[in-house]
Amino acid sequence: MSTLFIDGRWTAAISGATRDITCPADGAYVATVAEADRADTEAAIAAARRAFDEGPWPSTPGPERAALLTRLADLLADEKEQVAELEALDTGKRMVEARIDLDDVISVIRHFATLAGAEAGRVVDPGTPGVSSRVVTEPVGVCALITPWNYPLLQTSWKIAPALAAGNTFVLKPSEVTPSTAIWLMGALDRVGLPAGVANLVLGPGATVGAALTDHPDVDLVSFTGGLETGRRIMAAASDTVKRVALELGGKNPNIIFADADLDAAIDNALTAIFLDSGQVCSAGARLIVEESVKDRVVDELVRRAGDIRLGGPFDDDAETGPLISNQHREKVEKYVADAIAEGAVLRVGGARPDAPELAEGCYYLPTILDDCTTTMRCVQDESFGPVLTVETFGGDTADAAEDAAVAIANDTIYGLAGAVWTENAGRAERVANRLRHGTIWINDYHPYVAGAEWGGMKQSGIGRELGLAGLHEYQEMKHIWHNTRPARAGWFADRSH
Ligand code: NAD
Repeated sequence: MSTLFIDGRWTAAISGATRDITCPADGAYVATVAEADRADTEAAIAAARRAFDEGPWPSTPGPERAALLTRLADLLADEKEQVAELEALDTGKRMVEARIDLDDVISVIRHFATLAGAEAGRVVDPGTPGVSSRVVTEPVGVCALITPWNYPLLQTSWKIAPALAAGNTFVLKPSEVTPSTAIWLMGALDRVGLPAGVANLVLGPGATVGAALTDHPDVDLVSFTGGLETGRRIMAAASDTVKRVALELGGKNPNIIFADADLDAAIDNALTAIFLDSGQVCSAGARLIVEESVKDRVVDELVRRAGDIRLGGPFDDDAETGPLISNQHREKVEKYVADAIAEGAVLRVGGARPDAPELAEGCYYLPTILDDCTTTMRCVQDESFGPVLTVETFGGDTADAAEDAAVAIANDTIYGLAGAVWTENAGRAERVANRLRHGTIWINDYHPYVAGAEWGGMKQSGIGRELGLAGLHEYQEMKHIWHNTRPARAGWFADRSH
C-alpha cells in the first residue's frame, strides 16, 4: 500500500505494515494505508534535509512560491467536493461541515501565498558611515508538522502553507486515523510543481512516527497541534536539539453570558459553541458561565434545544452534528461524564449513547449538559473534547463585582485558548475581553476566525501563533547582516610584528 510520500515518490512502509481506516459514523471501511515506523520517518527526514540543503526551494523567489501556493488553492477549489468527501469519511463529520472546512483551507493557502510574495526584511540605520545594515528572513529548515484528527486538512494547511511560503521543507504526520486528505495534498503539491523532497508524508502512530520526528537532530522545527499531554512530551523531546517548537494545544473555553445580553442570540450561539462537530473543536465553548439572575432561563432553554439536536453521518442532510472520532474517544467522554456526576455535577440532558437503531454502528454520544458545576471540579478544569457543556454561575452585589466574578471564574484554568463574552453593554464587553487570559476573545459571537488574524493559546494552550503575519514569522529565522564597505583595522590589540 504505497501511501507514504518520500522524496517525490509514493512508497509502502519498509516493514510492509498497513492500517485500515473506518468511518466513525457507521464503522464502514474507508481505505487501507501504509503504517510507517522510525525507519520510514528517518528516510523522510533525510529527503527533506537534502531538499533544504541542496534543493532549489529555500532560495526560490517569494513570488514563485506564492504562485505555487495559488495553484494549490485553485486545484483544491476545483476538486473540493471529492476532497470534502475524503475528509467526511475519515472524520464522520457532515459534508456541509467538510465543505466549510475546505473553504477555510483555500483561504488559508491564498493568505499565505500573499505573504510569500510580499517583501521580506528591513533596513536598519547602523549609525556608521559606509556601513549598511539589514535584517533578512530565512527559512528555518526541515519542519516536522504534526496534526490532529478533528480538522485534518485545515490544521495541516495552517502549517504547510506558512512553511512553504517561507521556503522550508517538511515532513507531515497527520493523525493516524484521518490520513486521506493529507494523501490527496501530497499528490496535489506534486501536480502543482513542488520539487521532490520538499513535502514528505509519513503515516503512523504518534508514539513511533511522531516521536521519531521530534527528537531527530536533522529536524529544525516542530509545529504540533493536539492535546496538552502530547504537547508536553514533544516540548521535552525537542529540547535536546533545541528545536523551534510551536504548540497549539487544548482549551477549556469560557462562554460568559451577562444578564443584559441578547439572550436569544447568546443561547443560539452557546449551542453552536459546544455542539458543533460534537464538541471536538479546540475552541469549543465547553464552559458556560452565566449570570445568576438569568441562569434558569438560559439553561432551561439550552437543555430543551440540546435534547432536540439531530445526530447523523456525512450524507444525512437532516443531521445537525456528527459522531465522535472513535469508540475509544467515546469511552473517554463517557468516563468524564460519569466522574463529573460523581463529583456533584447534575446531568440535565444527554449523558448517554443515542438509542436510534440507525446510529448503532457509529460512535455517537448525545449532546450533554452538566449543571451546578464549580471551578474546582475536574469536569470544569479538564477538556472532554466531546459534546459536554458544564454550567457555572456568577453574581455580585454590584455590576462591577459581578464583572470581577465572571472574569475570575473564566481565568481560573490552566488553559488559555479562546472564550466569549455576551453583553449589550459595550464598555463591559471591552473590559471583560481585555481581562480574559485567552488567545482569542469573541464579543457577542462564537467560533468565527479570519485567515489574517492570529490564532494561538496563552498559558498551557500553546506556544506561538498561527494564521497571521506572525504565522509566517514562526517559520522564519531572522538574520542581521552588517556590511562594512570601508573595512578598517579594529585596533583593540596591539600589532607587535613591527
Ligand atoms: P493528540 O495529542 O493525541 O494527537 C495529535 C497528533 O500528535 C497525532 O498526529 C498523534 O499521532 C501525534 N502524537 C501523539 N503522541 C505523540 C508523540 N509522543 N510525539 C509526537 N507526536 C505524537 O491529539 P488528538 O487526540 O489527535 O487531538 C485532540 C487534541 O487536539 C485536543 O486536545 C484538542 O484541544 C487539540 N487541538 C488543538 C487545536 C488548537 O488549535 N489549539 C486544534 C485542534 C485540536
